[in-house]
Amino acid sequence: MKNQDLVDYLRSCGVCEVCQLRYLKARGTEYKDIKETFRKLDVEVTKNLKNGEALIPIEDPPAKKTRLDICATCLGLFSEEFQKELLGGILASDFAKYDCQKVVLAICLPMTLQLRQLAMWFALQRKFGAAIDGSNPPDVPIKEAVKLILHPIICEKLNKEYDANGLMINIDLTHKLEQEDVEKLVKLNKEAFPAKAAYQKRIEISRGLLEKQYQPSKVRAETFEKYFQIPCSSVEESLKLTSIDLQGPLICVAGRYRKLSRELSHTPWVLNGQRLMEDSIEEIIIRHVGPHFTENRDKITFMSSGREDVDVRCLGKGRPFALEIPNAIRSSLTTSQAHKMEKAVDTSGKVSILDLQVVAREELTHIKTGEEQKKKFYRALCVLKEPVSVEILNKLQIPQSFDIQQKTPIRVLHRRPLHTRPRTIYSVKAKVQRGNHHALVIDIVTQAGTYIKELVHGEFGRTSPSLSSIIGKPIDIQALDVVAIDLDWPPQVDNSIHAK
Ligand SMILES: [Zn+2]
Repeated sequence: MKNQDLVDYLRSCGVCEVCQLRYLKARGTEYKDIKETFRKLDVEVTKNLKNGEALIPIEDPPAKKTRLDICATCLGLFSEEFQKELLGGILASDFAKYDCQKVVLAICLPMTLQLRQLAMWFALQRKFGAAIDGSNPPDVPIKEAVKLILHPIICEKLNKEYDANGLMINIDLTHKLEQEDVEKLVKLNKEAFPAKAAYQKRIEISRGLLEKQYQPSKVRAETFEKYFQIPCSSVEESLKLTSIDLQGPLICVAGRYRKLSRELSHTPWVLNGQRLMEDSIEEIIIRHVGPHFTENRDKITFMSSGREDVDVRCLGKGRPFALEIPNAIRSSLTTSQAHKMEKAVDTSGKVSILDLQVVAREELTHIKTGEEQKKKFYRALCVLKEPVSVEILNKLQIPQSFDIQQKTPIRVLHRRPLHTRPRTIYSVKAKVQRGNHHALVIDIVTQAGTYIKELVHGEFGRTSPSLSSIIGKPIDIQALDVVAIDLDWPPQVDNSIHAK
């Protein structure tokens, strides 16, 4: 089968030039300069035959062309008119609202289009026989061609980059013949696959079914032809754009927070429908970071690498956190914008944030996994009933790790099941607090998941050993700080660098 013969036949069936190239299996950039590609493939470009019409030189201005130009196989999907309509539709939508450099097109095509590909496949088999395979499409399938041809053109015109994680432009297309064709397809399906039709009461006709089951190796041309023409008939109308719907990208923002208050919960604290605490870390951060990215702050998910109790501060470099922001209207964050947000959060006096940055979604695994393996670094202010002796101080210098058994603390039993868990304590280092001989400042490094308050006082032996059992005296914890988090993520950024 010569390329020229194939193209001549396609032209006689009313197939457009782009689709002719599809049947020549053109790839990528070959669609850019159609004439050049034809030349390369030894196909004459000067004739444009249409159902036995006279030759029309291709150089003729479009105005002179007849209405017959709607391609029988793509229904105008690859025509310039359609590109213009599509572009106009996108620009007339909410598109300008989104400040995103990356876009992705999701085009929903009518089934009639797929049926037309099949009709053409049958037609080519009849015309060229064994040269056309029955299970591998003779063309670059429409869906793939949309990616190869339409996506780059639309992206270029919109001056955007193509990215699967970008702003999603959902485009719905239909055709006048769609309903009629689907009705025919239901009938055809019963006849083509009688076994399936027998035990399936209602067969769901879907695009997936069409793609999988409808090829010449599975459906006979004679059966198909009872319902549809081979080759496909010419049409009066091209595809119709029914809707354009935009969905902003999912943006992930990461940073570290320091919790400076002993009266602040991690997330909104609600009990029996009543708020117990006015604000939370989550709300403060989202309040100041959210509006830049979305109009709908309720949809933001806040996550962090662990958390601390309401009365525990988190100091040092802070705790890594991330926000997942769906349907964002903006995808970037400059350092000066980030710095403004950091300063705004600071004004709460309860939380401060740093290293704020947009990160790739995949990076959130840092926060989501490995929590159990991490080390925790605490500083506890503890008090004894008696002055701290040298003996007590010595017993609380434990540089080597040891294991404890810890029952679920009574205070969390309402939300955690009762278990006894082994936990490793990596080190304990105590010093007397300046100016108070009853008080100790104790640095403790533990395995994640250790309850520190109970590790200190022992909770009536429910944690064993405990610092209390080690020194043989009651010891109480007055205040606790997290001083470091064992996670070197997100990377440090100095957002203040460009700020004035
Ligand atoms: Zn076409």
